[in-house]
Parts: sequence; structure tokens; C-alpha cells
Amino acid sequence: MTAADRTTRYELTREGLGELLDGEPRYRLDQVWAGLYERLADPAEVTNLPKALRARLAYELPLALELVDESVSDAGDTVKFLWELDGGSRVETVLMLYRDRATVCVSSQAGCAMACGFCATGQAGFTRHLSTGEIVEQVVRAARRAAASDRRVSNVVFMGMGEPMANLDRVWAATERIHGDIGLSARHITISTVGIVPGIRRMRDLPLPVNLAVSLHAANDELRDSLVPINVRYPIDDLVEACADYLEVKNRRVSFEWAMIDGVNDRPCDAEELAELCRRLRPSAHVNLIPLNPTPGYPTRGTPLADVNRFRDRLEELGANATVRRNRGTDIDAACGQLAAGREVTLSPTRRRSITAR
Ligand code: SAH
Repeated sequence: MTAADRTTRYELTREGLGELLDGEPRYRLDQVWAGLYERLADPAEVTNLPKALRARLAYELPLALELVDESVSDAGDTVKFLWELDGGSRVETVLMLYRDRATVCVSSQAGCAMACGFCATGQAGFTRHLSTGEIVEQVVRAARRAAASDRRVSNVVFMGMGEPMANLDRVWAATERIHGDIGLSARHITISTVGIVPGIRRMRDLPLPVNLAVSLHAANDELRDSLVPINVRYPIDDLVEACADYLEVKNRRVSFEWAMIDGVNDRPCDAEELAELCRRLRPSAHVNLIPLNPTPGYPTRGTPLADVNRFRDRLEELGANATVRRNRGTDIDAACGQLAAGREVTLSPTRRRSITAR
């Protein structure tokens, strides 16, 4: 076997592993698979395997992600990993340890084509899709890191770099692996989308009832067109209808993400329009409010916390459930919308003008 024939460790399917273990006793397949997925072990550490087999697997099944940097914040409770992929592009993963849970935020693409102006990943543009194995491996590597602090990963959110619905086949294969093999329940897996309506509809028809988060940020088309360009293609009415359908079929709460941008989407009229949209879903959608995090290409500041709280109170008065999310890892650029994998983000003069003109 040459290096070029090798598939990476978490790309390999169970059937593929069966072929690789051809000639070995049948129970080896279960042993190796459990070693990789339940114990999150390196082949060399699966000590119930013969030594020669461990060495062969370690060589034939290399990892896909090369760790370039690991940064730590929040007294060790937030860890950001910077990985280099085959071909040289880079992505990031964030591990967040809370008192009652440990969440891994994974990337689904290197870069993103959705071009939301306020998001560092969007500012950097699209490079390529991640493979199933590259997504699964992010969870495994972060879970190994968590295990070093005696913690178990309980939640996975597709809220890192990229638009999961633009890479849904691989994202879904990874989700099935995270659910069926790593063993997380579907209710602890969240797929976040900028609002790709056909993707939401496809996901509705897929078997696992994972949580759906929609990055809404604006509740009327005029404002949303300017913040989230894909809204021109999939306007709010269609988006909310797809969410209502998802909720009805899956019986899972749908949440709306709302990055609060000072003077842009934090006015009383925004709260009213948003509450109205939430009421169109039954049960009502849950709103997550996050003050906008600073990014190089978007000069507007986030809403001050006192005003964020006021906005939340107003939403609640209007019958919508809302939570103000605590920001993790802003000092290491690990917070929502800050993942750029070390890339310098430069904007073309026209783009900069269109942003500052608003
Ligand atoms: N593409 C998917 C997955 C990314 S999730 C999606 O759009 O849902 C990352 C979340 O952070 C999204 O809700 C995104 O809109 C939000 N975000 C992007 N830039 C941000 C910023 N500067 N401050 C706060 N949130 C931001």
C-alpha cells in the first residue's frame, strides 16, 4: 500500500474496515471499531489487538487533521484548535466546557460561500468542502482533549466554519457517525444554517431528529437581504415555512440565532417583528441573542449588554422565548463568527463601501 492509497482513519466506513481486516478473525472488526469510536483511541492504544496489527493500522489509517495551533481561554474552559487539511487549507474547531455539558463546535467547510458581511469566515470566502472523516475527526480529537480533563463531550454543534447545508451529504454522514458510533443522542446534535430552504426540507426527511438552528439576524426581508445575502434567494416567509414543517415532522425545537448589531437589528421594531415570526412556529421558536463579535471586515459594534437584556425582556413580553448567550473565547477569536483559521481578511474597496454605507 502506498501513501496515496490510504484512506484516513475516520473517513473509513465499517465496511471499508472489514475489507482492511480481511483474513483476521471476525471479532477484530468490532474491537477496532470500538477502539476508534467508543474509546476514541489511537490504534496503538487498542491493547487487545496484536502488536503487529496495531502497527499496521496506525500506518494504514493516518489522521486527516494536522494540529497547527491550540489556543486556550476562559481559564481552560474554551479550547480552539487550528487544523491543516490535506491540500493546505485550514479550519478551526472549538471545545467548550461548561459545568453540566461539554460542546464541540465543528466546521463543515474550509471558508464559506455565503458571504455574510459581519462574519469572519464569510469575509474570507470559500475554499473547499470538508469530507465526512474530516468532520468526524474534529469531534474525536476534541473529545480526546476533553477526556484529558476527565470530561465527556455531550453536544456537537455545526456552528464552526462553513454552511452545513451546502455540504449536507457529508455533514449528514458525519452526523450519523457521531450519533451511531460515537454515541451522542440526536437531541444533543445541532445543525445550524444560514437559511438554505431546500436543505431544511431535505433534513426534514432524513431520519435523525437533530436540532435545527437558523441564523436569522433580521425579521424583514429588506434588512435580512443586506445582512445575509442568501436571503434574496430564500426569503423569510419560505424560510419560516420550512422551519414550521421541520418542527412538525421532527418534533424538535427550532432556534433562531440573532447576532445583535448596534443600531441595526436591536431596535424595538426589530423585537416586535421577531416576536411575530416566532409566533408563527408552534411551539414558538427559541431565540438565542449574541452581541455581535468584532471581526476585521465589519466596523459596526455589538449591542451593549444592558440593551441586549432589554431586547430579551421585550421579546419575552411579546411571548417569545429568548436567551442571552454568554460569549466564549472572544480573546482567542474563537467566538461566533470569528473563525477565520488565521487568515488575514481583506475586503475589496467596493465591499467595504457597501458595508459602511449602511
Ligand atoms: N453557516 C451556518 C453555520 C455557522 S454558525 C450558519 O450561518 O448558521 C455561526 C453563527 O455565528 C451563525 O449564527 C452566524 O450568523 C453567527 N455569526 C457570524 N458572525 C458573527 C459575529 N461577528 N458575531 C456574532 N455572531 C456571528
